[in-house]
Amino acid sequence: MLGLMMREPLLISSILDHAARFHGATEIVSRTLEGPIHRYGYAEARSRAKRLAKALAGLGVNTGDRVATLAWNGYRHYELYFGVSGMGAICHAINPRLFPGQIAYIANHAEDSVIFVDADFVPLLESIAGELTSVRAVVVMTDDAHMPETSLPAVHCYETLVSAEDDDYEWPLLDEETASSMCYSSGTTGNPKGVLYTHRSTVLHALATAAPDLMSLSARDSVMPAVPMFHVNAWGLPYSATLVGAKLVMPGRKLDGASLCELVDAEKISLSAGVPTVWLGVLDHLERNGGGLDSLQRCVIGGSATPRAMSVALEEKYGVQVLHAWGMTEMSPIGTVNTAKNGMEDETREARYDRQVKQGRPCFGVDMKIVDDDNRDLEWDDAAFGELKVRGHWVCSSYFKGEGDSHDADGWFATGDVSTIDADGYMQVTDRSKDVIKSGGEWISSIDLENIAIGHPDIFEAAVIGIAHPKWDERPLLVVVRNEGSSVSSAELLGYFEGKVAKWWIPDDVVFVDDLPHTATGKLLKMELRETFSGYELPTTAGAGESG
Ligand code: ADP
Repeated sequence: MLGLMMREPLLISSILDHAARFHGATEIVSRTLEGPIHRYGYAEARSRAKRLAKALAGLGVNTGDRVATLAWNGYRHYELYFGVSGMGAICHAINPRLFPGQIAYIANHAEDSVIFVDADFVPLLESIAGELTSVRAVVVMTDDAHMPETSLPAVHCYETLVSAEDDDYEWPLLDEETASSMCYSSGTTGNPKGVLYTHRSTVLHALATAAPDLMSLSARDSVMPAVPMFHVNAWGLPYSATLVGAKLVMPGRKLDGASLCELVDAEKISLSAGVPTVWLGVLDHLERNGGGLDSLQRCVIGGSATPRAMSVALEEKYGVQVLHAWGMTEMSPIGTVNTAKNGMEDETREARYDRQVKQGRPCFGVDMKIVDDDNRDLEWDDAAFGELKVRGHWVCSSYFKGEGDSHDADGWFATGDVSTIDADGYMQVTDRSKDVIKSGGEWISSIDLENIAIGHPDIFEAAVIGIAHPKWDERPLLVVVRNEGSSVSSAELLGYFEGKVAKWWIPDDVVFVDDLPHTATGKLLKMELRETFSGYELPTTAGAGESG
């Protein structure tokens, strides 16, 4: 017998409808490219998203068409998230920090029909315009007064398009499995691959991640995504903050410490989210200039491992609780968040910081396991490590156009991360499988070593890579950026590892650099480091071959 409850499709438009009806005056605040801070409420955002949907139809955009963006976090980008998906088309946020050739590849692969672009990315778009095979029109996300000179053909002005329409528009009642948006994985190896989200997966992800054990979002929060909307949909915050009716603050292109601290203060931000590099910038700014993060209660940090020292500094100096999160483009992106469980009330502060180094546990909706090379399940004993596999409501079932599948016969998705899981279900990433250092038949976790190095008061940023070694196969090399004015030596740094890890894990050498290379999403670019140091001779190499 079937139950007798209403069946409402889980649609992205329904999230904005709810916010407009019940939180119509709650603000979306944006730092604009044009200069001033822009403010309006959810009711007006919906009205403009509807006008945008009509304008899109006027540009010939149909259900299922891909509409791309090259844009920072701001209210027009927000309207695109809801207007494009709401009308049944697919919102494709492209990362403008990628190499231009990669952007052209992605736009062509996705067959984007229209590109919406922030004025400062117009030159970038001009540089690849000749390579684009499917784009019919470009819309610059500004008003008439700020339209840049451009050689691009078929260019429109966003405000002109939106102001020509009214908001007399009903969102179509779509099947909840309709594709709503897409993102390409960073593609540090091979070409980027497209992940195609559905309305259903997006709404479920927003509902789940807003809950207390994940981001704990509410209508009382003021939320600032310091992660760009082109980085896996700003980790879903534009949807989840809207769903709960939180105030939403969009920092535009200024993600430096000073600009973010200014917004935290001015807009009473209670929750923010970003990659560790962004928080390094915030901490550095506060160290140099003083000040605090008074209103900030929680900060979600993910994309790369959150160093223990960062959790300690944010909590002890600034009273901010760190929520260490792990995820992937393929997972919408949230897979785990590290929050405590019942029974952990008496955990000491130190034990809590130790736990927070782990990436966390999944909520209902995501399942995970670790497997060995023969795909056999490994123990959850905090020691056994193997490839992490996931499945769930907001995990991709295959890539766009069926490329490069990473799913096994049972439907589990192989993440490419190597992890442990403890008896309480907390997962810890020890490495990206391609970054693992293999020494004497055993594995060394580069993330663990980086975490320790970052804990040294003189170190700003650290990377550990494997260097070929005649005896041990590979040995770790520590590459670090020292804090300004520091002259800490290799010997002091290596001594700092003593007692913190097994002796054979301690790096063989240290190289000091001015900065470290990062990917377009702020991760350490280990591939480039490995190339730079491919011929590096470790001090332990001499004579190692003969000594056996
Ligand atoms: P993007 O580069 O856009 O962030 P990807 O999907 O390419 O997205 O990156 C996902 C990968 O980032 C994960 O598989 C993992 O290796 C890494 N990652 C994400 N969060 C964390 C974290 N908290 N700790 C360690 N690694 C992380």
